[in-house]
Amino acid sequence: MADKLTINIQWFRRDLRLQDNAALYQALKSENPVLPLFIFDTSILDKLEDKDDKRVLFIHRELQNIQNQLREYGSTLDVRYGNPVDVWKQLINDYKIEAVFTNHDYEPYAKERDEAIKNLLAQNGIAFNTFKDQVIFEKSEVVKDDGRPYTIYTPYSKKWMAKLNDSYIKPYPTEKYFHNFSKSRPNKIISLKEMGFDEDMNYVFPTYSIDSNLLINYGETRDIPSINGTSKISLQLRFGTVSIRKLVSHSKEISFKWLNELCWREFYMMIIWHFPHVVKSSFKPQYDKIIWRNKEAEFKKWCEGKTGYPIVDAGMRELNQTGFMHNRVRMIVASFLTKHLLIDWRWGEAYFASKLLDFELSSNNGGWQWAAGCGCDAAPYFRIFNPYEQTKKFDPQFKYIRKWVPEFEDFSYPSPLVDHKLARERCLETYKKYLIVVE
Ligand code: FAD
Repeated sequence: MADKLTINIQWFRRDLRLQDNAALYQALKSENPVLPLFIFDTSILDKLEDKDDKRVLFIHRELQNIQNQLREYGSTLDVRYGNPVDVWKQLINDYKIEAVFTNHDYEPYAKERDEAIKNLLAQNGIAFNTFKDQVIFEKSEVVKDDGRPYTIYTPYSKKWMAKLNDSYIKPYPTEKYFHNFSKSRPNKIISLKEMGFDEDMNYVFPTYSIDSNLLINYGETRDIPSINGTSKISLQLRFGTVSIRKLVSHSKEISFKWLNELCWREFYMMIIWHFPHVVKSSFKPQYDKIIWRNKEAEFKKWCEGKTGYPIVDAGMRELNQTGFMHNRVRMIVASFLTKHLLIDWRWGEAYFASKLLDFELSSNNGGWQWAAGCGCDAAPYFRIFNPYEQTKKFDPQFKYIRKWVPEFEDFSYPSPLVDHKLARERCLETYKKYLIVVE
């Protein structure tokens, strides 16, 4: 050990940026040189069936981007591949580490992983310092007056908005301390191929916009899937390539409506923190009594965008082809699966999780439970979206539909998988039958 330099480690996870990063700021301000680290976690990667998963590609590109920036400071990113506990055992062996810095992660798996790493580090006399970074308010920072967590969005958002002041959105000026990165020759980042994933050099990720005009008009444009009326920043938010503080201070000035959506994101993160049972079960337990029809052939048709309902099929095809789906259409297809087809919301949730570039456990789970009616602040079970009425309202000239289902007016297009009126009645009957507490 005598010849080893004492270092601190900044462990990047879903905060892939050097600018305005809470843990990185604290790490760089500390006394020791800071080694930046990323771990490709095999317990997550091994579960991905699609070896062409673009989310892994996105992470890989962003690491490369960080690597290029670090080069300017004579530093390099240490990228490891393996199970985090094994990787940390190796790191403890490789370096003389005084402290590890990282940002909070609120999902059940992440909580368990961090607890295990914290214990391992403690056994080796290494401090594990963690910080809030991916949200403005976390855990119990916005709770009811009696200290209990909110389960309804509106009062939560009122308190969230009232509490928001400049101190919460001040950027962390990491760049002031970049000279404190540890110095070393650039490492080559493990390739996607070495990890068993496809390398797609030509793939272009969707661009996002937080242009002031877009945000000013957001209230009018956000529900129209045929236009670029939303920011499309969810992928960047998922992996922390943008700072939430920057987005909130920007939107605070120009668009309350958009700020409200960022607040929904935090609401669902707060829910998953306080009510981790939602990952597997309904927020409202009585909804788990429902016996779903779960017809596999119908599920397959829904996945493929062949239900005979053009707006549903357009959404599913957009998802399959781009890894993105407009929010209004996410609500329509989720309602259709759970209420028209009476298929367990967990099937749809898992399909979205495998396909969405912006897949976020908390928002996806929240969105699905909302649509199925079993969530904390959900659409009541008797509110069943009529896909034709939704089309009339949000895609009256079929622009969105035509883009994804050009054959929708042809004879070749399938007839509806189920009649709307029949499906509606069947849904009402089923929900009523199984719900002991009727809303
Ligand atoms: P914008 O409308 O520009 O909103 C800005 C940001 O606010 C989004 O990027 C997102 O971070 C947040 N946001 C917006 N709407 C919501 C919402 N309803 N709930 C939580 N956060 C929101 N969002 C995800 O990020 N990941 C998911 O896996 C996900 N799954 C969903 C599943 C279903 C069934 C439903 C109904 C919604 C889901 N959402 C999910 C929420 C929403 O659809 C997306 O965040 C949004 O479509 C992303 O597009 P945007 O960046 O253009 O959003």
